[in-house]
Amino acid sequence: MTIQTKHNFGAGPCILPASVLEQAAEAVKNWDNSGLSILEVSHRSPKFEEVVVKTEALVRELLEVPEDYAVLFLQGGASTQFSMIPQNFLQKHQKAAYTDAGLFGEKSIKEAKYFGEVEVVGSSAGEGYAMIPEIGSVTKDMAYFHCTSNNTIEGTEMFSFPELGIPLICDMSSDIFSRVMPIGQFDLVYAGAQKNMGPAGMTLVLVKNELLDTVKHPVPSMSDYRIYRDNQSMFNTPPVYSIFVAMLNMQWLKARGGVAQIEKENIAKAALLYAEIDRNPLFYGMAVKEHRSRVNICFKMHDQTKEEDFLSFATDRGMVGIKGYRTVGGFRASLYNALQIDSVKALVACMQDYEKQHGNN
Ligand SMILES: *Cc1c(COP(=O)(O)O)cnc(C)c1O
Repeated sequence: MTIQTKHNFGAGPCILPASVLEQAAEAVKNWDNSGLSILEVSHRSPKFEEVVVKTEALVRELLEVPEDYAVLFLQGGASTQFSMIPQNFLQKHQKAAYTDAGLFGEKSIKEAKYFGEVEVVGSSAGEGYAMIPEIGSVTKDMAYFHCTSNNTIEGTEMFSFPELGIPLICDMSSDIFSRVMPIGQFDLVYAGAQKNMGPAGMTLVLVKNELLDTVKHPVPSMSDYRIYRDNQSMFNTPPVYSIFVAMLNMQWLKARGGVAQIEKENIAKAALLYAEIDRNPLFYGMAVKEHRSRVNICFKMHDQTKEEDFLSFATDRGMVGIKGYRTVGGFRASLYNALQIDSVKALVACMQDYEKQHGNN
């Protein structure tokens, strides 16, 4: 087996556990000794229906999803949720409250404006998105409040969530399953699979039934959460393989001790890398310390002209995916669940070796 010889810090699609990749590969060839590939079976077959049931049970168990929430597997990525949410929950005469804490927040605001009025109640655009914005005035007549728990591109993360007396909706694409989240505090949570859950193609939505009951206007079927709920995510063909691999990945996480356990490991990984960023005179962290993401760690070099050279130095040592997002620059190391602490140690060693060769001159 020659897979995973690199240290994969890619932001998404991202690293998955080697054992998951092996099982996923085997199922493509011969799924459970059925003589069939997982890629060629009906989504209505009892065997696949069992996969959906198991995956839902794992989501509920690992994330401690309250009973009165629907667990949905959709397509279209987190980006489709940017428009599906206002299409369901924002009326023309209403306003929705949004925070603008990064590029994905900006995109969610743009899409919501197709359906109604948006009030940006917190923005850190003026600070270059280096922090989580403070939340301004939110009134009870607003349709809902939308935030992003982890800003994948800018490397900031929310560690507490407001209680505002209106529905709370959160894009958890990049930190779901990485830390214990108070799901019951939210009315709707969504996440694309490819950051921590599995391969691209599936979007997880957790939604409180009470919120769905408030929808009174007609919604096209493919955008109507109630249709997916009432058909166990099988209104049309779901992303079969993506759900299957997500199930394998959740089984792996459960065997590893679950979310609370992996959160401890994730805290240790992030602390190790931030310590080096803060110690090493060549580098600095981009986010304010209180809001530093544990998942996506963004940093730059004081001497920007050395960044390309460091990137090739690191690439030669097996580091993959550490180039920062194109509009942000610098570096971004994503430390998702499957990334081992040894990979973080390798990156730290790389930064230290570079300092020895290039520092102080
Ligand atoms: C990646 C990401 C998205 C976009 O996800 P797609 O699945 O590509 O649509 C949205 N929000 C956040 C926070 C992300 O990290």
